[in-house]
Amino acid sequence: MYKYRGVKISIVEGDITKIKADAIVNAANNTLLGGGGVDGAIHRAGGPTILEQCKKIGGCPTGEARITTAGNMPSKYVIHTVGPIYDDGTKNEEQLLYNAYYNSLKLAKEYKLKTVAFPSISTGVYGYPKNKAGRVAIRGVMDFINNENDIEEIIFVLFSKDNYLLYKELLDDELGD
Ligand code: ADP
Repeated sequence: MYKYRGVKISIVEGDITKIKADAIVNAANNTLLGGGGVDGAIHRAGGPTILEQCKKIGGCPTGEARITTAGNMPSKYVIHTVGPIYDDGTKNEEQLLYNAYYNSLKLAKEYKLKTVAFPSISTGVYGYPKNKAGRVAIRGVMDFINNENDIEEIIFVLFSKDNYLLYKELLDDELGD
């Protein structure tokens, strides 16, 4: 567990659908109608009410975020955000990925949510290099804490041991003592 300006930052290796937080973040696509990877896992675990709410919302631009309840999962809400598809790094990917993290936390603040769990957005089918994506994720979260300081705990949930160890290294560098 790490601490940054009073906010807990933890890393967990595992399945985000099992995490109990005020909100878990979904790496969704622009349609919000479900997909593979973490998106598929969230809709399967949460049940059909999430898709019903997503249909009413009607989609989400890349870098923005929308919110639904979490259905049958232990968390209260799902914040659906859309990361960029990684091309060659010159297509504004970094800013869009940063926005996905930052705007998810702004939405959490609007709903007065204090604990938020993130997957490693864009690093599956969307092909964002994991190391670069991890740096952007951590910077987005730290910037939000600097600017808003309105959150109690951030949990990064990594689906593989490799990505868990990568985040550990990045956070040790940034926040370790
Ligand atoms: P994207 O389309 O944004 O790349 P993916 O779902 O394909 O989204 O992958 C994003 C990340 O989520 C990947 O690192 C993948 O390993 C991870 N992932 C897949 N399933 C889960 C899960 N159940 N819990 C947490 N992370 C997951």
